[in-house]
Amino acid sequence: MTVLEGKTAIVTGASRGIGKGIARRFLDRGANVVLTARTAETLEAAAAELDGSRCLAVTADVGRAADVERLVQAAVDRFGGLDVLCHNAGIYPESRIEETSEEEWDEVIRTNLTSTFLTVRAAVPHLRRRPAGRIVLISSITGSRVGYPGLGHYAATKAGMSGFMRVAALEFAPDGITVNGIEPGSIRTEGLDGLGAEAIAVMEKHIPLGSLGEPGDIADAAVFLASDGAKFITGQTIVVDGGQTLPELPL
Ligand code: NAP
Repeated sequence: MTVLEGKTAIVTGASRGIGKGIARRFLDRGANVVLTARTAETLEAAAAELDGSRCLAVTADVGRAADVERLVQAAVDRFGGLDVLCHNAGIYPESRIEETSEEEWDEVIRTNLTSTFLTVRAAVPHLRRRPAGRIVLISSITGSRVGYPGLGHYAATKAGMSGFMRVAALEFAPDGITVNGIEPGSIRTEGLDGLGAEAIAVMEKHIPLGSLGEPGDIADAAVFLASDGAKFITGQTIVVDGGQTLPELPL
């Protein structure tokens, strides 16, 4: 399958977890992929593990405008243009509202939401030059559809991404750029490794399809939204959660 052959994509937060899964799938489908994260060591290890020749690792903090501009320019310099922005980087520290400091609040907003604005703003001038520019934002069911105690700041950013996505879809539609979101449910990434089998089993009990998702499940949806097959879809979100948000009463 080469549905992304000849296209160049940026995937943020690609050193592990969902972002690495998306980068892997984009490469498998023929794209050139620019991976980014803050930690050079793990980012370069991920790029080496994936595919050196069509991969570029650029260390950057997506919450800082200068870093984001440098990231986008690096993609254009290396591969001659940009077709797809997949903004996935995000943090989800747990902190109940009354215990959350302004610094923690600002950090989550900056990392998850301000970064959405910064990456889209930097990518659009380049996406506009391509016949089928694509923006795919990795949001969450948390905030967009459901709540979870301890994730007030996070939920605000993810709901915010959905609102931003709809406006961006309208503003960039005349340029032929589509803007869509994916809302993952509970996905098995390195972050969950420490939880233990018992906690995972409890989570799985509440997912109608019976297991946590894999990064590849999110990646498959991202490939679709980035491909020509999704050319008439914009301003929408796909929920990829195994039915987690579906039950009327707890299972
Ligand atoms: P993860 O395993 O913690 O990976 C996060 C990635 O983002 C890492 O590569 C991290 O690398 C990078 N990152 C964090 N802050 C960054 C910054 N300021 N600038 C650049 N890169 C940054 O996370 P994940 O579980 O794969 O989640 C990925 C996305 O999916 C997030 O947006 C999350 O909200 C969303 N999501 C996840 C789940 C889930 O169940 N896992 C469910 C719903 C939504 P560095 O730390 O080196 O920067």
